[in-house]
Amino acid sequence: MRGLEGRVAVVTGSSRGIGRAIAVELARRGCSVVCNYVNRDVEARRTVEAIEGAGRRAIAVKADVSVRGEAERLIAEAVNAFGRLDVLVNNAGIFLRGGVMDDVSILDRLYAVNVKGVVNCIAAAVPYMRVNRWGRIINVSSIAGFGTSARNTTYYAMSKASIVVLTKRLAMELGEYGITVNAVAPGLILTDLVFGSPKEEAEELIKWTSERTSLRRVGRPEEVAHLVAFLASEESSFITGQVITIDGGRIDFLSHSG
Ligand code: NAD
Repeated sequence: MRGLEGRVAVVTGSSRGIGRAIAVELARRGCSVVCNYVNRDVEARRTVEAIEGAGRRAIAVKADVSVRGEAERLIAEAVNAFGRLDVLVNNAGIFLRGGVMDDVSILDRLYAVNVKGVVNCIAAAVPYMRVNRWGRIINVSSIAGFGTSARNTTYYAMSKASIVVLTKRLAMELGEYGITVNAVAPGLILTDLVFGSPKEEAEELIKWTSERTSLRRVGRPEEVAHLVAFLASEESSFITGQVITIDGGRIDFLSHSG
């Protein structure tokens, strides 16, 4: 895959899960990577070591992306360390259960990270990309953003739906600067976010999802990372404003996904 050698990428929330897989994959394909994390120093260090072990450059930067000033510092540290910024992957996200009959503070927390966190990083990154007249912004949404039947996830789904329209609007605004903006919408991917649930609940969720998926299984973080790496590469040069579903072919979604 062309286009990633010598590039500099920031991956938010890459101490573990999908973010870690994306950081490692981008590095494998030639990027220097800034691994952002919020509170898992040891795990973030492990992501950096995995990248350095593969002969690439990486640093870990602790920053809460939901705070504008911290997102700005994250991007500034990336540029200080590696001299430029080419790829921004907005992966950091939280999952909380809740709907309109629940405490609205849950919605505030979800929006702070899943929506404002993305906006903060983009606002900080775009000036650097505009200078180079080249950039790749990849946002991590979710099939939840198209509306799922999963119980008690209305607030989370709303936060991920915002990323869909944000991606389309930004693609339009940034296209003239050679910056593409796309999103990925994963189905169920096995990460700590899933394993964070009680064991029986997680097992039931995996079984339920697999039965409703064409490939009869749930996804792996590396599979999302391959898609993100493609969207970050030169090969995706004429793709922008798209939200690409990666869910193994959810049978209950085939009529209206994407
Ligand atoms: P995860 O919980 O394993 O990882 C999330 C990462 O985001 C962690 O490293 C966490 O520290 C970081 N983070 C959280 N709040 C942050 C903040 N304020 N500032 C900086 N970093 C922060 O989750 P995951 O499953 O790897 O999910 C990654 C992304 O993929 C999320 O946006 C999630 O909503 C999305 N997603 C996950 C699935 C799934 O099934 N796992 C499906 C669809 C979408």
